[in-house]
Amino acid sequence: MRVLLVGSGGREHALAEAIARSPALNALFIAPGNPGMEGLGTCVAIAADDVPGLISFAVEHGIELIVPGPEAPLVAGLADACASVNIPCAGPLQAAAALEGSKTFTKEICDAARIPTARWERFEDADAAIAFVRRRGAPIVIKADGLAAGKGVVVAQTVAEAEAAIDAIMRDKALGAAGHAVVIEECLTGDEVSLFAFCADETAVLIGAAQDHKRIGDGDTGPNTGGMGAISPPPGFDRAAQEAALDVFVRPMLVEMVRRGTPFRGIIFAGLMLTADGARLIEYNVRFGDPEAQTLLIRLRSDLLPALQALALGTLDDVAIDFSDDASATIVIAARGYPGKPVTGTVIGGLDAVAATPGVHLFQAGTARDANGDIVGAGGRVLGISAAAPTLRAAVDIAYDGVARLRWDDAVWRRDIGARALAATAP
Ligand code: ATP
Repeated sequence: MRVLLVGSGGREHALAEAIARSPALNALFIAPGNPGMEGLGTCVAIAADDVPGLISFAVEHGIELIVPGPEAPLVAGLADACASVNIPCAGPLQAAAALEGSKTFTKEICDAARIPTARWERFEDADAAIAFVRRRGAPIVIKADGLAAGKGVVVAQTVAEAEAAIDAIMRDKALGAAGHAVVIEECLTGDEVSLFAFCADETAVLIGAAQDHKRIGDGDTGPNTGGMGAISPPPGFDRAAQEAALDVFVRPMLVEMVRRGTPFRGIIFAGLMLTADGARLIEYNVRFGDPEAQTLLIRLRSDLLPALQALALGTLDDVAIDFSDDASATIVIAARGYPGKPVTGTVIGGLDAVAATPGVHLFQAGTARDANGDIVGAGGRVLGISAAAPTLRAAVDIAYDGVARLRWDDAVWRRDIGARALAATAP
């Protein structure tokens, strides 16, 4: 099979590693990829959201399957463009990608399919939104309806904070078109877990669950990031709980999408909050998480490529997807300055030593080659160092052994990935 993988992050490096292992693979192209993926396939200089560029490359090079990593090309209609040239795509059509692209759409699906979620109201008028917040009081959650790269959600602790968020989103258009409407939700509390499944039409197959570490600093302090590390499985959310959650949060959604004539084919990422009253859906994403993909894919035992093809073709019932029962962890290495402006251009030493650490998988993300051919930092999140082992303790220790071999003065990482989970499960 000739495959075009779209994206350039650690998630895509992990996907590339798994795809490259497949006996069914004839050629792998990655658009645009990163230096870490060079040995796994051919990197081509097409941006991940350049849908026309991706399609013409795919047609010209006889691509038989497109695998999108990030959400941007899906929300921009990559799968629809693939369908128009008869190339299977392992991600949803634009109408189904609205599960990630529109908060209102997700809430409507939850209501129609009776999926437990925070109570909500939608407003297109700022005055009405503010009046509602004054009636309800705080804490309360304000969400821009559209995609805002993680910046569109404010968990307001006071009414004043909620009003300021509505002003910024709806009146000042701080997030552009994403703020044409807001969804206002009841504020829930509890641990968050991410559940992943391959889906095609009404079939969902469990991939696993992970827990991200969103804040930059140890002890969950400092600003939010794209994710500084992940562990799998989350404490108290074992395989049986994950399977049960598919029945509550994923399968009814799939049935509702089919009923609406917009079946979902792709990877679903259900973000759940485990509240005292049971789990609640926070959001759907229509692709793997990053760094959760790295944490999950290193435990894959079966061949990923036929599974991706089957979800594109709607034949998921015919393939086996098998994961080890190991625990796993990923430590993200970011560049100094992140999540603000990261330092770029400095040489990253010790990569071979990290990769040679027994049990470690090294994934690259924001990296580039300089004029000497050395690997330098070129983004915020730069590396992911992952390991799987029979216990979470062992997986975390192996991953940190890998981190210790890195030689890069501009590296920033959390020292406590998995610490809360380990404390929660300590005898
Ligand atoms: P964006 O659209 O900006 O990319 P997002 O898709 O990341 O944002 P959500 O996942 O809906 O937005 O919310 C982000 C975070 O806000 C959640 O991970 C959770 O911590 C918090 N959050 C969202 N909804 C609620 C809620 N109802 N109660 C409490 N916290 C919430």
